[in-house]
Amino acid sequence: MNNVAVRPVERVSTCKICSAQAPLYGVTDFHKSCEEARGRYLPLTGVAIYYHRCGDCGLVFTHAFDDWSKAEYVQHIYNDDYVLIDPEYIDTRPTGNAAFILDFIKKGKDLKCLDYGGGNGKLAGLLREGGLDAQSWDPMDAPETPLPSESFDFISAFEVLEHTPEPVATARQALGRLGPRGVLMFSTLTIDHVPPRGMDNWYIAPRNGHITLYTRRALDTLFEREGYRVHHFNDGLHMALKTTPDWMS
Ligand SMILES: [Zn+2]
Repeated sequence: MNNVAVRPVERVSTCKICSAQAPLYGVTDFHKSCEEARGRYLPLTGVAIYYHRCGDCGLVFTHAFDDWSKAEYVQHIYNDDYVLIDPEYIDTRPTGNAAFILDFIKKGKDLKCLDYGGGNGKLAGLLREGGLDAQSWDPMDAPETPLPSESFDFISAFEVLEHTPEPVATARQALGRLGPRGVLMFSTLTIDHVPPRGMDNWYIAPRNGHITLYTRRALDTLFEREGYRVHHFNDGLHMALKTTPDWMS
């Protein structure tokens, strides 16, 4: 991080989703990670990461990485040490998510599936083992591989949206690959109630690449604008769709 210029921050920014005023919310060290919730702390870097919070939809976001290239993300965040601050990324999470998806879409026949932001491709591999037509795409894992151009019946995006500095563009890109009556299932932890300067929340973690943190209202606003409604299974799991496909009813 030492040679990376972090942009000076404005006291009041504009919400990346609803364009309302978003005052500064808090500041933390770049090395704050989700593992702090388990008592594991990385050494402080001395690089301050400021977050804003939208006064309307409640989106919490930072501009600190807005100008980063993919190479900078790979060098500073999605590097060899990433597994240390997200140990479930390699195996535990894909395995659990695959079992859930296989059960959720069991009534579907010949559904084409895409795991958007699928990291190492583990989840898509498990879905193929389960008999599904599934592929994975991840801009950080394979930066040269373009997003598949065909459309899909089911797209999963587990722990993706909090990693983007451009929530509208990312949601639009994922939804753009959905076919008619397609469904996007995604996980990201919504934080609907935060105290002032609530930077101690474990999910606000720049070292994990948690750049954009949502409320349910922020997600609803984001997807409604693209013509989709959002069903919230719980604080962590959500689904965007226009109409309910036959296999789900
Ligand atoms: Zn907003």
